[in-house]
Amino acid sequence: MAELPEEFTTRLQSIIPAEKYESVINAFTGRRQLTVRINTLKNSIEEARKELEEMGIAVEQVEWMPEAFIVPVESKSQLSSSPAFNEGRIYIQAFASMLAAYVLEPEPGETVLDLAAAPGGKTLHIAAKMQNEGKLSAVEAVKGRFFKLKANLDTYGATMVRTFLMDGRAVGKKCPEMFDRILLDAPCSSEARIIAGNPKSWEHWSERKVKEAARKQKGLISSAWHSLKPGGRLVYCTCSFAPEENELAVQKLIKKFGDQVLIEDIQIPMENIQQGITEWGGKQLHPDLSKAVRVLPNEMMDGFFMISLRKEI
Ligand code: SAM
Repeated sequence: MAELPEEFTTRLQSIIPAEKYESVINAFTGRRQLTVRINTLKNSIEEARKELEEMGIAVEQVEWMPEAFIVPVESKSQLSSSPAFNEGRIYIQAFASMLAAYVLEPEPGETVLDLAAAPGGKTLHIAAKMQNEGKLSAVEAVKGRFFKLKANLDTYGATMVRTFLMDGRAVGKKCPEMFDRILLDAPCSSEARIIAGNPKSWEHWSERKVKEAARKQKGLISSAWHSLKPGGRLVYCTCSFAPEENELAVQKLIKKFGDQVLIEDIQIPMENIQQGITEWGGKQLHPDLSKAVRVLPNEMMDGFFMISLRKEI
C-alpha cells in the first residue's frame, strides 16, 4: 500500500467507495500520462497534429474532446522547449483541468467570468472555446500569479480577456447578475497533488487547512453566485477530495439562496467518476448533490471535483 499520511487516508476511506479505494490510493503516484491542449486561437487541431508529428511525437486525440492530445511522457522536455509551446500553439495541461471548460460550455459572444484564474490554463481554454468573441473577465488575488496569468494570455493570444487583480470575494457586490457563465476553480487544500512517499507534497496539508480553505471557498462561491445572471451557469471545482471543500460549499450556498440554486447533471464519458456524496459527518445533504462528480485519479488524470449550478430565473 502506498505511503500517505494516515489522517488523510482515514478521511479518504469515508469518501471513496470501498471497491474503488485501493485503485485510488494506488493512483497517488504523481505519474500521469502527458496531455496537451491545442490552442485553437493560434492554430487548428490538424495543423498542431502535423507540427507535433513532424517533431516525431506520436499523438493520440481524445475522441470526445478533440483539442486534447495524449502524448508520450518522455516528450515533455522536447515539447516544452519547442516553438509550438513557446509560441503558444500548444498548452501542456493536466487532463482533469481541461474538464472545467468542457462542463462550463462557454459560447462565443457570451459574458463569462473566471473568478480564480492564475496561471490561466482554464481561462485560455474558455477563450479558445469562445473564439475570442464576447467578454471574458479573469480575476486573481495574488500579485505574482496575476502577472503570470497576464503573460500566458499574451503568449496564447487570448486577446478578449480583461484581467483584474483583486479578491474574488468582492466581485459579487461590484458586478451583480452580470455573467452568463462563471468558472470558480477555487483555491483549495490541493489534496489531488499529494504524492505517495513524498512528504513534501503534503507538508501543507492538514484537516485545519481543509477547514481554512472551506471558509474562503464559502466567500468565493457566494460572490460568484451574486455575479451570476438569472438563468446563468456556475461551475465550481477544486482539486480536493474533501466534502467540506466541495459538496458542503454548495450545501451552504443552497442554505443561503434556497431554491434559486439548481444542480445540473454533468455528462462526461469517463469511467473514473464517482457521484457527489449526500451524507457527511452524520448529516444528510441535499439529494441533488449526487449530480456532482468526483473524478477519481488514474494513470491519465489527477483527482478533481466539479459541480454545475444553474440560477433559477
Ligand atoms: N484556474 C487556474 C488555472 O487553471 O490555471 C488555477 C486556479 S488555482 C486552483 C486558484 C487560484 O485562486 C490561485 O491562483 C490563487 O492565487 C487564487 N486565489 C486565492 N484566493 C483568491 C481570492 N480571494 N480571490 C481570487 N483568487 C484567489
